[in-house]
Amino acid sequence: MAHAVSLSGVSCVFHSGGRAVKAVDDVSLDIQPGEFFTLLGPSGSGKTTCLRMIGGFTRPTSGTLSIHGEVVDSLPPYLRPVTTVFQDYALFPHMTVLDNVAYSLMVRGVAKSVREKRASELLELVRLPDMSSRKPAQLSGGQRQRVALARALISEPKVLLLDEPLGALDLKLREQMQVELKELQRRLAITFVLVTHDQHEALSMSDRIGVFNRGRLEQIDTPTGLYEQPATRFVAEFLGAANVLEADAAQQLTGSAAAMIRPERIRLGAEQGARVRGVVQTLQYFGSFWRAKIQCDQGTALIADLAIDSVLPAAGETVHLHWDDSAIHRLNETGMR
Ligand code: ADP
Ligand code: MG
Repeated sequence: MAHAVSLSGVSCVFHSGGRAVKAVDDVSLDIQPGEFFTLLGPSGSGKTTCLRMIGGFTRPTSGTLSIHGEVVDSLPPYLRPVTTVFQDYALFPHMTVLDNVAYSLMVRGVAKSVREKRASELLELVRLPDMSSRKPAQLSGGQRQRVALARALISEPKVLLLDEPLGALDLKLREQMQVELKELQRRLAITFVLVTHDQHEALSMSDRIGVFNRGRLEQIDTPTGLYEQPATRFVAEFLGAANVLEADAAQQLTGSAAAMIRPERIRLGAEQGARVRGVVQTLQYFGSFWRAKIQCDQGTALIADLAIDSVLPAAGETVHLHWDDSAIHRLNETGMR
């Protein structure tokens, strides 16, 4: 079966103020039909540019893009079997919710009764059945987000492109929408390509994640693969808290040139059998755990996340650190190339 989306050696260079900016740098990537794929990375790393090239809004400087086996390099956005949900939702303020959702069918000349019936069904799907006659300004942020989704889905895209769709929502609503969006994708079984800078969002929703760093794809893997086996220091640190050990510290503690251990994999315990000894510098409360910063005898500082019901050390106390072999992961210098 053809890939849902395939990028082959795609780059995008912008020229602004006499300077060339390589926004996307030689990215190759295959997304499978029905996959929930996330482009994750810090601000300015090239995620939006990458998504815009898939949608047809930005032309690659080099490389080739195909969607469901068809090369789309010369196709304008409206001829591609994809729909984009933009970050700001881009709803028409003067139109009702129903007309916003039905818009693309209206443009295609679909009869009013047919398109309104279809738009109502989609409003049911996104759980907004009673809002059809309102204007966007009369909705909350989360409701506007659902209208934008319904509007995108009405043209039955094979691939839905979403650029930071939950970025404008507060934390509680964002977490609720993450669950709903994932559930919707599973039910519709269409391909979702999501852009986000939020690692929790990426980890909790995606089948696979591609991590961007300065226009390059640094690693592609499943959420657990990325978190537990990051290829590089950048991926290790972007996905969550990480103790990255380098040079002598890595050699002494792990026997490799660079390695990482997640803070939740470190335990405090008896002197006997301990990996290293250290002195607790600070203890920080995070609600669901305590984070201890420990200055080790070897000169390295490590952070350890301690369960809320564990016996806590005091600042200044000498402690003994334990971890399993499987908690140590070697890091490479560079990512996919
Ligand atoms: P992200 O979505 O990861 O924040 P973008 O793809 O928006 O990143 O931007 C990547 C880089 O390309 C940034 O340095 C940004 O300033 C630059 N860039 C994006 N769009 C344009 C443009 N239209 N003209 C010039 N530079 C741009
Ligand atoms: Mg962006």
